[in-house]
Amino acid sequence: MIEMRHVSKRYGAVEAVRDLSFCAPKGQIVGLLGQNGAGKTTTLNMLTGYFPPTSGQVLVDGQDMLRHPRPCKRAIGYLPERPPLYDEMTTEEYLRFVCRLKEVARGDISAHVGEILALCGLSEVRSRVLGHLSKGYRQRVGVAQALCGNPPAVVLDEPTVGLDPRQVVEIRALIRELGKTHTVIFSSHMLPEIQQLCQRVVILHRGRLVREADMTELTDTGDVVRLRATIAMGERLLLPALKGLNCVQRVKVLPTQDAALTEVLLECRTACNDRGDPQTQLFRLLCGLDAPLRMLTQQRDTLEDVFLRATADEDVPPDGGR
Ligand code: ATP
Repeated sequence: MIEMRHVSKRYGAVEAVRDLSFCAPKGQIVGLLGQNGAGKTTTLNMLTGYFPPTSGQVLVDGQDMLRHPRPCKRAIGYLPERPPLYDEMTTEEYLRFVCRLKEVARGDISAHVGEILALCGLSEVRSRVLGHLSKGYRQRVGVAQALCGNPPAVVLDEPTVGLDPRQVVEIRALIRELGKTHTVIFSSHMLPEIQQLCQRVVILHRGRLVREADMTELTDTGDVVRLRATIAMGERLLLPALKGLNCVQRVKVLPTQDAALTEVLLECRTACNDRGDPQTQLFRLLCGLDAPLRMLTQQRDTLEDVFLRATADEDVPPDGGR
């Protein structure tokens, strides 16, 4: 497990990270989410021991990063924002070089590099010079160097930034694959990416933690259910009837192209089920009104809803004026 306890980081007058505590449990994919300038890179640089916090502690499996830097750093592979590649080396030469830096036993290097090349989909470019690789391949080499030495955890700073859509899909597939065998922490400001890949999410805003939760918990709407319904009846007759249902807290009318249809978003309490759940109550009502139901879906909170709520104080510039 990797943990931050009350970590802050100052760059002169700029407080980039402030009193940040969170943990990445073993074997999970954890997403660090935040707008530009939120403090993601600063956080990851401290998490990996690249530089120390101004105050607070980073713990790797209970060991303090500052007191025990070697075992802590050995446990984490890091892909920084810009992959640290030597352009004149071939892919295989570079990975062998990184293995030597990470003190992989000489006799094990060939097999280890072979495994990493296969896992990262790099076998076909093993003899290509890094300076000639596409951005997508370079990013994969960046992930591959993080895996040298077999660390149980990998930290990836915005691994999909600047890639074309196909490369993005490929890197996401690689992260998903790594998540089966590693603890993965990666930063992104792309909400769908975090939602697709992560079991846990940490939301940063202006250097502070604003939410940390399991993905399921984060998008759980508790005892409120939101139903989106398209009903073949005019608004005038329908709306008073919908508002009269005892489970309905709020009704929002959505725009439709067809005047004969009404599309509504119903916010309903699930606790008042003496007359059946909200869906059943709605069906009964519409049968009584002879109003055909054309579509009914249940809406959950998206990560976007959660993120926008968590970072709602938007009148300061994105850099936070810090
Ligand atoms: P992005 O998504 O744009 O990479 P980020 O969330 O990774 O942003 P950081 O790069 O950690 O954010 O920056 C956090 C804040 O610290 C920003 O206000 C940034 O301008 C500032 N900052 C970062 N590095 C330095 C530095 N070396 N000196 C001074 N300020 C810095």
